[in-house]
This record gives sequence, C-alpha cells and structure tokens, in this order.
Amino acid sequence: MKIKFWGCRGSIPVPDSRMMKYGGNTTCVEVIFENRIFIIDAGTGIRKLGDSLIKRKVSNIDMFITHSHWDHILGFPFFKPIYSGNTLINIFGRTSSYKRLKDIFTSQMSYEYFPVSFSELKSKINFTELSRQQYDFDGHIIKIIQTNHPIFAMGIRIEKGDKSFVFITDNELGLENPRTSRGEFIAFCKNATYLIHDAQFTEEEYKTRQGWGHSTFMQAIMLADDSDIKNLGFFHHDPDRKDDELEEIEAKYKKLCESKRYRFNLFAVRELKSIVI
Ligand SMILES: [Zn+2]
Ligand SMILES: [Zn+2]
Repeated sequence: MKIKFWGCRGSIPVPDSRMMKYGGNTTCVEVIFENRIFIIDAGTGIRKLGDSLIKRKVSNIDMFITHSHWDHILGFPFFKPIYSGNTLINIFGRTSSYKRLKDIFTSQMSYEYFPVSFSELKSKINFTELSRQQYDFDGHIIKIIQTNHPIFAMGIRIEKGDKSFVFITDNELGLENPRTSRGEFIAFCKNATYLIHDAQFTEEEYKTRQGWGHSTFMQAIMLADDSDIKNLGFFHHDPDRKDDELEEIEAKYKKLCESKRYRFNLFAVRELKSIVI
C-alpha cells in the first residue's frame, strides 16, 4: 500500500510562502492498493489529486469523509473527476447523528455557495452511511473509530496482513470525559506500521484551546508509545505554524523520543510526500 498526502494543514488553507515546506492545503490523503484507490477527505488538497487521477485515467474512486468540517470537504467542488461522465465515486461517512451524508455535499454545491449545483454533476456518486465498525474491501480490513471532536468524526485503520495504516485527524486526546477512551484508541492503533495523528497544538497553546477537538504533539507521542506503533506522523498542522517553527518542533520531539528510547520513528507530515507500507 502506498499513501500520498495531498493536504495536511488544519482548519483553513494557507497560501503562505513561509509554509511551503509542509504545505498549505487542507486534509486529503490518497491510499493506493494494487488495484484500488481510496481517498480520505476532500480538503483543498483534493484539487491536485483530481488532476493526477485524470492523468492516470483512474475513474473508480472510494472516498472516506472523516467529518464535514469545512477543511475536510472544501476541495470537493474543485475535484475535476466529478465533472466526468466516466467517473464513479463511492462516498463513505458517518453523519447520521447530525446530517445526512448526501446533504453535506449537495448543500455545499447549492447556488448560494457555488455556481455549479450538485445535480448538474456528470459523474455517478453513491453515498454510504457507515454503521459498522469494520469492513472488508478486497481483503483490506477497514476499521472505524469515533474521535473526540465537536461533531462525529472518524478515525480509520486500514490493514492487510501485518501492515497497517492508521489515520486519526481531528481528535482531542486530552479531554477529561472523552467519548472514546484512551484505552480504546490504544487498542485501535496497536502495532500499526504508521500512525498519522492530529497534533495541532503545543502544550502551551492547548491551555486556552481545550474542547476545540485537537491534540498536542506530546499527546500524540504518548499515544504512539502506548500503542507500540512503528512510525508516527504529526498531522493537521495549525494554520499559523510556519515552516521554521514546525522544523524546530519536529527536531525537538525527535530528540525527546530518542532520549526516552521510544521505539518509533517520528516526523511531521509534508504535503505531496508519500510513504510505502
Ligand atoms: Zn480539521
Ligand atoms: Zn474538524
């Protein structure tokens, strides 16, 4: 499985020359299997991914939407494959607790917000509300967990054999009375090859941002250590975090992990970078 990050910025896209190294586009991740492509979230990173899929002649797409906050759906109207009659898109999400999955996409493309309405799209788009905690896609096991966020948001684990990719964005690990407990997250992440986790705040910033639905760098590290994962990627970078600051943070926590002899590799996710599992 190959994973490419088309957007890793949190909250809002940031076209800023001081943020080019880690990138300014919001959440969009492409997971490539032998014969199948999954997309996780339709943040602004999906625009470039769309161009790439057209070039690669990919017309059958499965898309998982972790939740409907702007930064995770904003790129959808600019995803060119939706305008092609040859494209089939299956969109999966869990929104029944607050809105129908389809409504999120149709209302985003209503005339008040966008010049093309959803009903004019040429592609075939199916919506599936996820109700179970585990699915099998061609032998790839997909597991879902509810994250701690102001609305229902889901974390995803994709595994095949002994390789696994866990993606948990928009999750607050520091809550006193969480919906999903620390123990449940540890079990969900256990032994993952890669854990990509929300790490938006420093410990200092978190003091005034509790309840916003995001974690600190250290909270992500502690989860990684408890879960015995092999690689941890910081994700959902704060829109105010410049490259030099993120470089410093990456170096500081790498050092800390070495001094504590944590057994995982640590990095901050960068836009357009890939990992192979
Ligand atoms: Zn977000
Ligand atoms: Zn969110």
